[in-house]
Amino acid sequence: MINITDKKKLMEIRMLAGACMSCDDCISQCDFLTRHHMNLQGFAYSPEYADECLLCGKCYAVCPRGIDGCDIANMAMDAAE
Ligand code: SF4
Ligand code: SF4
Repeated sequence: MINITDKKKLMEIRMLAGACMSCDDCISQCDFLTRHHMNLQGFAYSPEYADECLLCGKCYAVCPRGIDGCDIANMAMDAAE
């Protein structure tokens, strides 16, 4: 688990999943999302879990809105203290 306190960065991370329509297709592709009962929008609101993302891109492959968990994880890791 990582720690992010920069509010501007937290908002930028949330915006990465702003187009999510909550279809939850990403969850079905990912043990990490399943484990935490969250879709990519949930991940964007809980970026402290970014160090558990495998950066595999399976979520992006199925997301109808083109949201990529790798982007969320990478931005979160960059913002980590
Ligand atoms: S697949 Fe995309 S649109 Fe569907 S819940 Fe996941 S992030 Fe949202
Ligand atoms: S990139 Fe991360 S969030 Fe997306 S399917 Fe892989 S482990 Fe899950």
